[in-house]
Amino acid sequence: MSEDLILFWHRRDLRIQDNLGLIKACESSSKVIGLFCLDPNLLKRDDIAPVRVTYMIGCLQFLQEEYKKLGSQLLILQGEPQEIIPKLARELKAKAVYFNLDIEPFARNRDRSVSEALKSIGIRTETTWDQLLHAPNQILTQSQEPYKVYTPFWRNWNLKPKAKPQPLFSKPLIGLTETEQELAKNIGVIPVPSAQELGFIWDNFLILEPGEIAAQERLEEFCDRALYEYDEQRNFPAIDGTSQLSAALKFGVISIRSIWQKTIEAMENCRSDETRNQIQSWQQELAWREFYQHALYHFPELELGSYREPFKSFPWHNNEQYFQAWCEGKTGYPIVDAAMRQLQEIGWMHNRCRMIVASFLTKDLIINWQWGEKYFMQTLIDGDLASNNGGWQWSASSGMDPKPLRIFNPASQAQKFDSEAEYIRQWLPELRSLETDQLVTGKISPRDRKSCGYPQPIVDHNQQQRLFKQLYQEQKL
Ligand SMILES: Cc1cc2nc3c(=O)[nH]c(=O)nc-3n(C[C@H](O)[C@H](O)[C@H](O)COP(=O)(O)OP(=O)(O)OC[C@H]3O[C@@H](n4cnc5c(N)ncnc54)[C@H](O)[C@@H]3O)c2cc1C
Repeated sequence: MSEDLILFWHRRDLRIQDNLGLIKACESSSKVIGLFCLDPNLLKRDDIAPVRVTYMIGCLQFLQEEYKKLGSQLLILQGEPQEIIPKLARELKAKAVYFNLDIEPFARNRDRSVSEALKSIGIRTETTWDQLLHAPNQILTQSQEPYKVYTPFWRNWNLKPKAKPQPLFSKPLIGLTETEQELAKNIGVIPVPSAQELGFIWDNFLILEPGEIAAQERLEEFCDRALYEYDEQRNFPAIDGTSQLSAALKFGVISIRSIWQKTIEAMENCRSDETRNQIQSWQQELAWREFYQHALYHFPELELGSYREPFKSFPWHNNEQYFQAWCEGKTGYPIVDAAMRQLQEIGWMHNRCRMIVASFLTKDLIINWQWGEKYFMQTLIDGDLASNNGGWQWSASSGMDPKPLRIFNPASQAQKFDSEAEYIRQWLPELRSLETDQLVTGKISPRDRKSCGYPQPIVDHNQQQRLFKQLYQEQKL
């Protein structure tokens, strides 16, 4: 086995276990050093959530400890990857830099520049697909086109055999010598900074502890607790019926193969089709994640705006006061406000509520979905370009989805999915004394609203829905 130095560049794969790129690096040398780059181009963006940075930093600290256990190091660099990685690689006389591929337009451009810069100084790069069960070019229609519609994508994707996770990784590695560590320090390797040192403050708890052990434990716990009832429970925000693994999936703190394997094992333990359907319903959510990632890979223009042509010039009203009320959870619609307060407080929102508030912003307040998309990125622990953009374009009817206009009625949604108003009461404590019926229908008298310190509805749902439909028709959508 060679002892040539290989740098493994972590990005959306903050873990050791079942990390395909890392495993490949370790197969070709025993001297593998981890690397993570705090890229100012990303950290200075105005859509970064403090909660997300806090989770990521916690994961880096955890990962650094894991590298130590294996006898190696995780180096933290601060700077533009295309400059600082080649510099480090050259100084340390690395033979190659390995990394896992990403689908985001920014990441793909960055990776190209880093690879070119390394090539120009004679250092090889090796790349692998790791964050998806199937790489984007593996799932195509019969005419070899990318899918634009989820259901046929799912059918094809589901039929394809899926890789199993690799056995537990505990291979000892050779780390940097003291001289090499000194060299690395001179180039700019730093200790893992706190989120606060990077300018991000998150005072509340995290819905998921950072690090791979916590993510694996959450997976186990979810499979025992809720997987077998997932389809029945996943739509009720007051029930703890989903995995809350989204942040771990976003940062690759857990491998998608190990998650899939769990669903296969759970299927094997099933005695009825009904239970199998519950599990399949969760598998379908995992497939939505892949669908949106494939879509962004094939249609990078999705990032920039509406996919459907007429929506590109839609006459949004974009009322700033309404937007502020929506962000703060002060629209006067209890289910909408409860959801927005949940987001503010814990940096996560239940999927059903994401759909409700997204419909409300676009169809009731007639505000450009991109405003909501950005606010979600500024606040979500799991904020992820592909899933967030996909979710918003789906809700706004501006995306690839061929379904006709979709408008959610907040009261019907609350009646159906929070019929006892438990979720509303949890996040809107000022309304706890009101009757359940008032909370779910939103029919709260002006006097009651005043006494609870709760706002009047900022718009009338029925009126706005008519208006939106009219605008929609006028655009000949
Ligand atoms: C407007 C809007 C914005 C969204 N923004 C994001 C985002 O920024 N990041 C994000 O990860 N998800 C986003 N979603 C999808 C979904 O709401 C979350 O993935 C889910 O709520 C996370 O909770 P969970 O881990 O408990 O999910 P579970 O129900 O346990 O699902 C398991 C995993 O499947 C994936 N998944 C589930 N539902 C979806 C979906 N509809 N689309 C894509 N992937 C899915 C996630 O990785 C999730 O962790 C958005 C949805 C909408 C409607």
